[in-house]
Amino acid sequence: MKTNLRQLLLVSFTLAACAVAFAAKPLAGPKGGKILTTDAPHAEFFVEKNRTVTITFYDTSLKPIPLTGQVVTGVAEAKTGKVGLEFSAKGGALVSNFPLPKGDDYTVVLQVRETASARPKVYRVQFHDEVCDECKRAEYACVCDDAGKEHEHDKKKE
Ligand SMILES: [Zn+2]
Repeated sequence: MKTNLRQLLLVSFTLAACAVAFAAKPLAGPKGGKILTTDAPHAEFFVEKNRTVTITFYDTSLKPIPLTGQVVTGVAEAKTGKVGLEFSAKGGALVSNFPLPKGDDYTVVLQVRETASARPKVYRVQFHDEVCDECKRAEYACVCDDAGKEHEHDKKKE
C-alpha cells in the first residue's frame, strides 16, 4: 500500500509538472469555490452565504468523495485580526466553526491533513468578496486564464 501510494504521488507529481508547463486553466470547483489542490483527491474551498467555509473533497473527475478522516484547520488573516478556524464534518464535507471575518482581500491559510496524524499541506487563498466579471464566479475562485496575471489574449500564435 505504501509503495503504491508513493508511485501514485510520483505520477501525480509528473502530471502536476505538465499542468504547470501547459499553464492549464485552474479547475473550477463544482460548488463554485476554489480547488486548492493540483491532484486528486481535490479539496475545494467554498465560502457560503453566511461566510462559513466549506471544504469538499473530490476525485480526479471532480465527483465528491466521502470524508475519510481529513482534518482541516485554518487562519483567516483579516485586517481586523486573525481568526482561527476549525472544521467539523457536516453533510459529507468539512464546515468551519466560524464565519470568515468581515472585510475583503485577505489571506486564508488552510492546513489540510489526510488523517489526524498526517503532515499538513498548507494552502493559501486570497479571499475576495466580489464576483469576477468574466467567469461570474466568486473572485477568490476565478477560473479565468489570466487570473492574477497579465492578459495574454493576443498571444495565440499556433
Ligand atoms: Zn474570472
